[in-house]
Amino acid sequence: MQISHPESAVSDILPDVSAFLKKPQMTIGGKSVAAASGQVFDVFNPATGAVLAQAPAGGAEDVDRAVKAAQAAFEGPWSQMLPTERQRVILKLADLIEANGEELAQLETLNQGKSIMLSRLIEVQASAEYFRYMAGWATKIEGATLDLSIPIPPGMRYQGFTRKEPVGVVAAITPWNFPLNMATWKLAPALATGCTVVLKPAEETPLTAMRLAELCLEAGIPEGVVNVVTGSGAEAGAALVAHPGVAKIAFTGSTETGKAIGIQAMKDMKRVTLELGGKAPMVMFDDMDMELLGVAAGIGAMFNSGQTCCAGTRIYVQRGIYEQALEVISGVTRSLTMGNGLDPAHQINPLVSARHQAHVQSCITRGIEAGATPVIGASPPESGYYVAPELFTDVRQDMALMQDEVFGPVVTITPFDEPDDGIALANDTRYGLGASIWTQDLNKMMRYVPKIQAGVVWVNSHNIPDQNLPFGGVKQSGIGREHGRGAIDNFLETKSVCIAYR
Ligand code: NAD
Repeated sequence: MQISHPESAVSDILPDVSAFLKKPQMTIGGKSVAAASGQVFDVFNPATGAVLAQAPAGGAEDVDRAVKAAQAAFEGPWSQMLPTERQRVILKLADLIEANGEELAQLETLNQGKSIMLSRLIEVQASAEYFRYMAGWATKIEGATLDLSIPIPPGMRYQGFTRKEPVGVVAAITPWNFPLNMATWKLAPALATGCTVVLKPAEETPLTAMRLAELCLEAGIPEGVVNVVTGSGAEAGAALVAHPGVAKIAFTGSTETGKAIGIQAMKDMKRVTLELGGKAPMVMFDDMDMELLGVAAGIGAMFNSGQTCCAGTRIYVQRGIYEQALEVISGVTRSLTMGNGLDPAHQINPLVSARHQAHVQSCITRGIEAGATPVIGASPPESGYYVAPELFTDVRQDMALMQDEVFGPVVTITPFDEPDDGIALANDTRYGLGASIWTQDLNKMMRYVPKIQAGVVWVNSHNIPDQNLPFGGVKQSGIGREHGRGAIDNFLETKSVCIAYR
C-alpha cells in the first residue's frame, strides 16, 4: 500500500473557488442570503481537517421563506413558461455546469474529499448530461384519451382524458457522498416537469449545491424556482419535511432517516420517494471471466472510497475460484494508493468527515473483535480523515460487518458451494438496492437475475448507474425509482377529466 502526504501534488486552486469559499450563501427567492438567525456552521476539508468555509445555519424561518418563494414561482413565472422554454433553460444550465466544471469539481473535492477525477466525471459531467436527458422530457409529458362507458342519464355520452400536472413544491434532501450529482437527480426531473424546489444539501457538503443555485439563475431559471437552504437535518431538514407548503419529498440518505421522513410525510399525505442505504452483494460464479476481477474490486467495491450506496461490499465467490479471486482482489486492494483527492493519482481519498472516519474505523475494529480476519492491514496517512482499504475473510452472515452499512473502503469475501447458496447469501440482508452476478453462462444469468432481491442487478459489472435505467431499492433500501421516465412520473399528478356531450 502506497501512501502519499495528503498535501502533496495538489493542483492550483482556481481564484473563483477561493472567492466563493469566502462567503457561500443560501439562495432564497433568487437572492443570496444568510440565515435569518445570522448563525453559520463550519464546513471542513477532509484531506486536512481544516475549516474550508462557513455556511449559513438555516432553520425553520429560512425554510418557510424558501417554501413561500417556491410556491410563488410555481404559481407565477414558472407555470407560464412553455415546455420548450423550460427545456431551453435546463439545457443552458447543463452548459453552465460544464463551463464552470473545473470550479465545481475543485469545490467538490475540497469539500467531499473525493478524487478530482470523480468530481469531474460524476459530479460535473454526469450531472450536466443528466440535466440534458431530463430537459428532453419537458416536451414529452403526456396523458391519455379514454373512451368511457357511463350509461346515465340516457342519451348522454362521455369522453375522458388525463392531464399530467406538476405536483408543486418539492423538498429535495440529499446526502454527502455525491453532493452535486444527488442534487441533480432531484432537480433535473423536478424542473423538467414544472415543479419548483427547495433543496437541503447534507451539512457536510453544502457548497456545490449553493453554487448550482447561482448557475440556475444565470441560466434563466426564474427566481424562486430553485432555492437552497443549508443547515442541519434536525433543524432545516425536519422543518422542510413538515412544511405544509411542500407537496413532495425527494429524499436520498440513510435508511434510518428515510423511515422517519416517510412516516412524517404520510401524516400530511405528501408524495415521497426514498433512496436509502444498501449492502450490495457481488456473486461470482466459477465460470466468470476472471479478467473482470479487477473491475469488481476497483469499481464495484472501492469506487468513491466505498462511499457509494450500491458499493459491492459483500463478495461471494464460488469455491472453485475462491483462492484465485481472493489473490487478485486482495492484490488490487493493496495496489490502491491513498492521498488527497486533488491529486488524481490516488484511488482512495479521505472520507467525508471525522465522524464518518470514526464510524468506519469502529466497524473495522468491531469486525476484528468478532473474529473476522483482515487481509490487507495497511495504515492510513496521519492527517486528514483517511481509512485504509480493508478486505475481510472469515466473516459470518450474522456479523455486523456483513449486515450493517459501513459506507467506506471495507469489503468482505466469502466462499460458497452451489449457485443457489450464493444467491441465498446475497439475499440475506435487510437491504435491496444494488447487486451483481458474474458469469459467462447466459442460462445461469437468466435463472438467477430474477432470484436476486435488489432494485438493480448488474451482470459482469457493478456500481454503474445510467440516466435511462431505473434506479432504486427494494426491501429497506427505499421506495420509488429515479432515472428514466419513472423519475418524471414521481413529480407529476394525474388529473382525470370527464367531458359529457350529447
Ligand atoms: P443521512 O440520512 O444522515 O442524511 C441525508 C440527508 O438527510 C442530509 O441532508 C441530512 O441533513 C438530512 N436529514 C437528516 N435528518 C433529517 C431529518 N430528521 N429530517 C429531514 N432531513 C434530515 O444520510 P448521509 O449520511 O448524508 O448519507 C449516507 C446515506 O445515504 C447512506 O446510507 C447511503 O447508502 C445513502 N445513499 C443512498 C443513495 C441511493 O440512491 N439509494 C445514494 C446515495 C446515498
